[in-house]
Order: sequence, then C-alpha cells, then structure tokens
Amino acid sequence: MKVINNILEITSYLNSFVSTGKKIGFVPTMGALHFGHLTLINTSKDQNDITVASIFVNPTQFNDKQDFEKYPRNTTEDLKKLSEIGCDIVFMPDEKEMYPETDSTKFNLGKLEEVMEGKFRPGHFQGVAIIVNKLFKIVKPNNAYFGQKDFQQLAVIKKLVSTTNSTVNIVSCPIIRESNGLAMSSRNTRLKEEEFDQASLIFSTINQLSNYIANNKFSDFKTWVISQINENKLFRTEYIEIVDTETLEIVTDLKNHKSITCCIAVYCGQVRLIDNIQINL
Ligand code: AMP
Repeated sequence: MKVINNILEITSYLNSFVSTGKKIGFVPTMGALHFGHLTLINTSKDQNDITVASIFVNPTQFNDKQDFEKYPRNTTEDLKKLSEIGCDIVFMPDEKEMYPETDSTKFNLGKLEEVMEGKFRPGHFQGVAIIVNKLFKIVKPNNAYFGQKDFQQLAVIKKLVSTTNSTVNIVSCPIIRESNGLAMSSRNTRLKEEEFDQASLIFSTINQLSNYIANNKFSDFKTWVISQINENKLFRTEYIEIVDTETLEIVTDLKNHKSITCCIAVYCGQVRLIDNIQINL
C-alpha cells in the first residue's frame, strides 16, 4: 500500500494506472476508520482495479469548532486497517495541501442546504462539496463510494456531480451497524460504555416507525419519536424528519410517495449521532 501526502505525487502516480486503462475506485474518509468504512473499501476493490482511500479531517465542513477539535484521529491504526484489507493507495494530505488559500467557492445545492443536516449545520454541505470536488479533481476516479449512513450527504454529492458536469459514478453503500443496531460512526468512540449501549434506542425507535405510521395518524410521528428517545435522559433529539427518498422533499402525507426515509439527529452529551431508515410504501 502506497501512502501519499501531496497532490503532485498522487497525480503522477495515478496517471501510470490510468494510461494502462485501469479503473480507479475512490473512498473519501475523515479517518478513525471502522468496519463501515472498510466495507466501502471492499466494495471498491470488487468493482475497480485500483482503490484509493483518502484520510482528511476537513475543517470547512465543521460548523462547530469543538466538534472539529474533538473529532477522533488515529492514523496509525487507520493505515494498519487499510493495509490489511488491501487498499492500494492512501491519500493523506495536510490542511495546507488541500487549502493553500481560503476557498470561498459556493455550490448550488438548492434545497438540500435548507433541511435537516443543512438546516442544523449551516455551511456543512458547502464544506463537504468543496473538499469532495477538490478530491475528485485530484484522484479522477471512475467510481466513488459513499455510505447511506450520511443519506443527505449522498444527495449533495450527486448534486455536486451534476452541477460540475463530473463523470464520476457515485456508488451508494448500505449502513453498517453495531450488533446493538447503532449505526457505526467514528464519533461512537467518544461515547461512554453506558451511552454506547443505550444508543441502540435510536435505531430501535426509527425501526418501529413503519409499524407506527401504519397504525397511527401520520402527523403524530415526530411527537412519538421524540418522546421515545428523549425519555432516556442521556439523549436529546435535535430533529426527526421524514423525506421522500428520491427528492428529499419533506413528506407531510404518504400519498404519492413510493419510498420515504426517516432521518434523525440525536445528541448524547456533546456527541451528535445521525441515523436514517428507508421505508418502501
Ligand atoms: P466519514 O469518515 O465519517 O466522513 O465517512 C466516510 C464515508 O464512510 C462516508 O461516505 C460515510 O457515509 C461512510 N460511512 C460512515 N459510517 C458508515 C456506516 N456505518 N455504514 C456505511 N457507511 C458509512
């Protein structure tokens, strides 16, 4: 496995593969890797000749400075995991490399910036779009792999690809969960043991939603979810929303929707956890 820190080097290294017709798969990450990330790498390995992972904790996507500072970083372990799984190239730039100067690019992300993660984390998706756009230009992958854990981020990336006329094919990968149902996340390492155990409540609640909406007034679902979760004093629901899976429009009644997705953000102390579940109607 080759670890590369600068743009010139990775560009020329990748050129040698591109010129021989090799297909490149790319998995952008912020490190502190868990099995969810490794599943993305494995999927890329199955579908491409060369797999590139990047590790970069991107400052422009953090609307909360403390969250950026406390974001878990564990490069030694990450490189060990990536090497063991057979990742070919790891791109690990520093901040100066990715941001030689302040980047004030603004992408048209439409309504995606106004709801859920967009609403509660102002500027977050512009930061995501800026870094992914830069990484796509550097790595020039055929396929790029993103997790459904970050459901709205996937929509942002698809919008980015469309507005920039990019030819990168976006591959959406299923959510990988802990054995108690909690969606795997780098932030889970910041949970105390009791918090980690009880955080299974988030998935178990949204997992009962299809049953709830089949038997109750649809408009009551928010109150129900919030009461289920906030009943446990460890947790505070930031938002709960049901959106159309394709358009991400907020669903107010179930007519005219084939598939809906319930998205939730919950604070456990300072740690912000997100999850979602798709319900096909
Ligand atoms: P991150 O390092 O958190 O920026 O995540 C890098 C990529 O891994 C993103 O595309 C995430 O959606 C994906 N990812 C993170 N956690 C999971 C998970 N539990 N299951 C599937 N994909 C995930």
